[in-house]
Amino acid sequence: MTQAGTQEPHRTGTRAQRLAMPLARAVVRQLAAEHGACLRPVQLRRTDISTGQVEQILVPCGHTLGSVCAPCAERARTLRAAQCREGWHLDHEPVIDPDDPDDWQRWLVEKRAETQAERDWAEAESDDTAGQDALNDELDEEITRAGLRGNVLPARPARRHRSTRRRQDAPDLPRRTVAARTVGKTYTAPDGKTFRPSMFVTLTCPSYGRVSSDGTPADPDGYDYGRAARDALHFAALFDRFIQNLRRFLGYDVQYFAAVEPQRRLAPHIHIAIRGTVSRAELRQVLAATYHQVWWPDTSAVRYDDGDLPVWHEASGNYADPATGEILPTWDDALDAIGTEDEPQHVARFGPRFDAQGVLAGSRDAARCIGYLTKYLTKHVSDCHQADSDAQSAHADRLAAALRYEPCSPTCANWLRYGVQPRNAHAGLRPGCCRGKAHRREHLGYAGRRVLVSRKWSGKTLADHRGDRKAWLMSTLGIPAADPGRYSWEPVAPGDPDHMPPGQRMLHVVADRIRWQEALAEARRRAAEDSPPDLSATGRAA
Ligand SMILES: [Zn+2]
Ligand SMILES: [Zn+2]
Repeated sequence: MTQAGTQEPHRTGTRAQRLAMPLARAVVRQLAAEHGACLRPVQLRRTDISTGQVEQILVPCGHTLGSVCAPCAERARTLRAAQCREGWHLDHEPVIDPDDPDDWQRWLVEKRAETQAERDWAEAESDDTAGQDALNDELDEEITRAGLRGNVLPARPARRHRSTRRRQDAPDLPRRTVAARTVGKTYTAPDGKTFRPSMFVTLTCPSYGRVSSDGTPADPDGYDYGRAARDALHFAALFDRFIQNLRRFLGYDVQYFAAVEPQRRLAPHIHIAIRGTVSRAELRQVLAATYHQVWWPDTSAVRYDDGDLPVWHEASGNYADPATGEILPTWDDALDAIGTEDEPQHVARFGPRFDAQGVLAGSRDAARCIGYLTKYLTKHVSDCHQADSDAQSAHADRLAAALRYEPCSPTCANWLRYGVQPRNAHAGLRPGCCRGKAHRREHLGYAGRRVLVSRKWSGKTLADHRGDRKAWLMSTLGIPAADPGRYSWEPVAPGDPDHMPPGQRMLHVVADRIRWQEALAEARRRAAEDSPPDLSATGRAA
């Protein structure tokens, strides 16, 4: 069994320094990492409801960042790889059967039906419907909280339609009706063998200025950091638009597993496993027609700089000009003021350079691509490329500076700088100090999820894949599945008499882990004696 991400510290320093090290504990941690045990286990008290027997259970922290818990992050990465593998070359439509509604969900929907009928009746009688409307809104929220997908009624028409306006300079795309099919075409070779190829595609951002091989601009002053920042902020929306266009163009419900990560120049790019094929020419056509317009207020001119920022006017709950006391336009006012002749605040597009290759199920290429797709998932975006030189540090600094004042969302405090009140404005907002994830250095402007998976990829959630892995392990070890209703669980707090300090927990997880691994090795030996070896991917389980 291989264990990635465990770099053993070598003996360094003088003998005196070595002796000063907390050696025993370091060895426990090292052992834990070697055996894939969580480095920050969470302690839970498990009570058997029928017998009253209490046991201490140590649960892995489940963190996805290697810098926090390398073994858990590595487990999460292999789980993603399994998810990617399972959906890529699916040859049958994934079945997603919704669960039957439970009594509470049924009751809520019945209640919702009653109040709707009452409301419509009141409206027909020209009575006030405000009470029923409010109740309906509350019920809708409750229905969502109860775990039902979608709404009982279509959403009320949005106030603005401007964002759907098409730009004239974008080539139109032939549109086909999108069939419900999610599985790609099959091709038959002359010898009768059938193939179902899929694609591995990499999309990049456009150029912001020429860069050297170390990712730094040849001309830092000419490099368009503003555009780079905005493209990163809207990267997820642009990818979404690309998928919509691809589906309309190809005429089926294309499924994908994608991973976002930075290039050396610190611009995001995206690796995409796509089920089914598309030619390079077609892909080029779809990319040329794909853009994302951001219909936000104009940010080309700074209205209020750090010296004279808008002031909060408590009585009216608005921000006002510090000199004149004039109330600044609210977010909605500012949006309404965008005229038909105005340009969008930003138009995001992919760059003309892309990479596309066909991949066959189970091939070495497929394994290599899955490696690419999951390679950086255990790292923060900014940790994927460490700055090794002054030029690289300076480049990262300039991008961070550009991102600092770029509005990240309608609620961003930076809008005050451009003379607009952000949505849900409140006291204490300060441009350059928005806490949005996108501004943080470690995210490089991309605040979205690192892995983007379409709903019908494998037909399973990550929890389902985790369940598969556990079921495989339990059946390999010959342990019957436990009845989840048999136990009650509670967290153990530091003051509790049975609380284990971190050091003790580590010793327990190491012991548990070694015991499990031995049992697993033994079970495999037995299985290998009975039948030919089947060390499938899930063999890295647990
Ligand atoms: Zn952990
Ligand atoms: Zn912000």
